[in-house]
Amino acid sequence: MRVLLVEDDDLIGCGIEAGLRQAGFTVDWARDGHKASLALDTTSYELVLLDLGLPRVPGMDLLKRLRDAGKDVPVLVLTARGTVVDRVGGLEAGADDYLGKPFDLTELIARCRALLRRAQGRSVEVIRYQDLSVNPVAQTVEVAGTRVSLTSREWAILMQLLANQGIPQSRSRLEESLYGWQEEIESNAIEVHVSNLRKKLGAKLIRTVRNIGYVVEKE
Ligand code: CA
Repeated sequence: MRVLLVEDDDLIGCGIEAGLRQAGFTVDWARDGHKASLALDTTSYELVLLDLGLPRVPGMDLLKRLRDAGKDVPVLVLTARGTVVDRVGGLEAGADDYLGKPFDLTELIARCRALLRRAQGRSVEVIRYQDLSVNPVAQTVEVAGTRVSLTSREWAILMQLLANQGIPQSRSRLEESLYGWQEEIESNAIEVHVSNLRKKLGAKLIRTVRNIGYVVEKE
């Protein structure tokens, strides 16, 4: 986990650097806005800790440039400027979290970890349901660790049911999730796909709700 620390105060910077290293992070420390800007252009970081009052390039400008460039690395703003106006300004400029000085090092580390979890959650996001493991990003399904291949329509039905656990999905609702505008809906297709899903993933996963449709129960 590589972190960019942007802080011009030696004492504060030393403390944060030591704390982060001890917590297992790799730390690059930039002492002014220009150096930070160069580091961000050349290295990819998992997290940026950003002081706002910086020599050469102000922290807020750095943050705006970063977001304008389309980089979504999590940014935790550290600053003595504790007013609501500054805090709101920082968050609106694209900061993910804000910590006013003086702060407790253990709180700083905890917030770093929370930001990283959130960021990783967006990219990995594996859904686990009983012995099922579904990866929406890679579009893969495993049953008890064994990869199972689904057709795109089986996949769409499974995702719809997993996203609405405990809420029965009507046939027409499932059809909506399968077919785009102007696509012809095959009759009985839902039943056929559900039957195939049961064969591939286990008979108990999808329950028929009489006169309504299908449901994957809440775990
Ligand atoms: Ca400063």
